[in-house]
Amino acid sequence: MIPYGKQDISQADIDAVVDVLKSDYLTQGPKGPLFEESLIKYTGAQHALVVNSATSALHIACLALGLGKGDWLWTSPITFVASANCGLYCGASVDFVDIDKNTYNMSVAALKAKLEKAKVQGNLPKVVVPVHLCGQPCDMKAIHELSREYGFSIIEDASHAIGGKFFEEPVGNCRYSDITVFSFHPVKIVTTAEGGAALTNSDELADKMALYRSHGVTRSPELMTEEPHGVWYYQQVELGFNYRMTELQAALGVSQMQRLDSFVARRHQLSKRYDTLLAGLPLLLPHQLEKSYSGLHLYVIRLKLDQIELPHKEVFSRLRGRGIGVNLHYIPVHTQPYYKNMGFQYGDYPEAEKYYAEAISLPMFHLMSEAQQGEVVAALTDVLGGIK
Ligand SMILES: *Cc1c(COP(=O)(O)O)cnc(C)c1O
Repeated sequence: MIPYGKQDISQADIDAVVDVLKSDYLTQGPKGPLFEESLIKYTGAQHALVVNSATSALHIACLALGLGKGDWLWTSPITFVASANCGLYCGASVDFVDIDKNTYNMSVAALKAKLEKAKVQGNLPKVVVPVHLCGQPCDMKAIHELSREYGFSIIEDASHAIGGKFFEEPVGNCRYSDITVFSFHPVKIVTTAEGGAALTNSDELADKMALYRSHGVTRSPELMTEEPHGVWYYQQVELGFNYRMTELQAALGVSQMQRLDSFVARRHQLSKRYDTLLAGLPLLLPHQLEKSYSGLHLYVIRLKLDQIELPHKEVFSRLRGRGIGVNLHYIPVHTQPYYKNMGFQYGDYPEAEKYYAEAISLPMFHLMSEAQQGEVVAALTDVLGGIK
């Protein structure tokens, strides 16, 4: 099976992890801060906090922004469930904004319309989570302007977008957001096995996230309620978690970061090649925005079902049957049973549901060969053979 995504681990990556195993620190040593430094250097953000997953990063980001009971978090229905669940972890309510039919990101027009309505009804969101789907940045300038007008905070879910750029600047610099989150799961662009990071330009948010990452415990005298009792002293001043990243993961992250640009460049090569090879088929190919450079985590095609004999489901299973590890990103979150139990239903977000009925993620990863890509294209051409 040609997988839809796969990590690329070099000998240097392996050596970096083995060095940590032979060192004094398996966790809370020098590699975590080193990885954070490399993320700061790459993105230009003021602070980076590495954690054990993007899900954890989203959670501490919401907590640091003060999200809680009675508040609303809005995100896109076309995302991994974690972008929405983080709101529920904090006791807040979650709602969705339908997607743009070209980029599949949160639609700015739909966001604007929903905000106007929410203002009248008195239920404006406290936090909005735009998701850079497939790595293509959302229109952050427009979303940022709306945040000023309506007073919400922004967490960019950039789990797909490390290495990407928005108007020439790295995704993650937080120019248009309060916090940006990355994921280092193995299918993503760079990996630490499990892992994630939260970046911000705010000293206050960084301090709060650091507390939530590690039990709400501090060793900084200025954050304590009384004089330290001695050199051993620490205080728990918040209810936090253990979301720390290990030294093995951080060392892998530092090593992987050195190849980030080449990872993304290769994805662009493969994507351009797909664009050419698939041009004649009854498919909607990914739309790349001019002013941004996608991290290209995913290459998503949409079937023009009115020109194809087979249903979406059948195209999908025939491709799998031929060893092509196609996937679907994502099942609209509001149609998940857990969310339906909260009152969401089919029909709530028509663009998202239409996308779900047509989308297929094709295999794309750094080590994918042109021969493998050829196999994907041949299988797809064959399966779609019965063009109406
Ligand atoms: C992968 C992913 C996450 C969760 O990342 P983990 O590191 O696995 O917790 C969140 N949001 C999006 C959009 C993702 O793709």
